[in-house]
Amino acid sequence: MAKRCVDCPEILQPQIGRGRPRIRCPQCSVKRRGKSLTVAPTPLGPPPGPESPLEALTGLAAGVRAELEAAGRADSVDGMAAIHAAETLDRQDVSGAARASLLREMRTAAADALRAAAPAGGVLDELRRRRDQKSG
Ligand SMILES: [Zn+2]
Repeated sequence: MAKRCVDCPEILQPQIGRGRPRIRCPQCSVKRRGKSLTVAPTPLGPPPGPESPLEALTGLAAGVRAELEAAGRADSVDGMAAIHAAETLDRQDVSGAARASLLREMRTAAADALRAAAPAGGVLDELRRRRDQKSG
């Protein structure tokens, strides 16, 4: 005789393998679990690269931070705003419209910060030139 879910008329699939016997269909058990504790979706970060393991952990925020630090703008207001937005996006608990507007803000802030650092583009080239002058 088929067992039915205790919460809805769904007929439960015969159980395969070990574990506690099910009394709810997958849908109802998910609903139940959702009430007691919020299960955050596992973030799918970038695959860990061989170099710079610290950066590989964070993805977008690390990229934004690295770019701003290279331009010496990571501690500017725009730079911090961009990094903060990127970190929020990295956590991947931002959905739909909020995510889109965060992305837009992040890009605007990062662009403003970088523009302030180098008015005529070529941020990295300019930085390398300065570095070369200092060391040589
Ligand atoms: Zn059910």
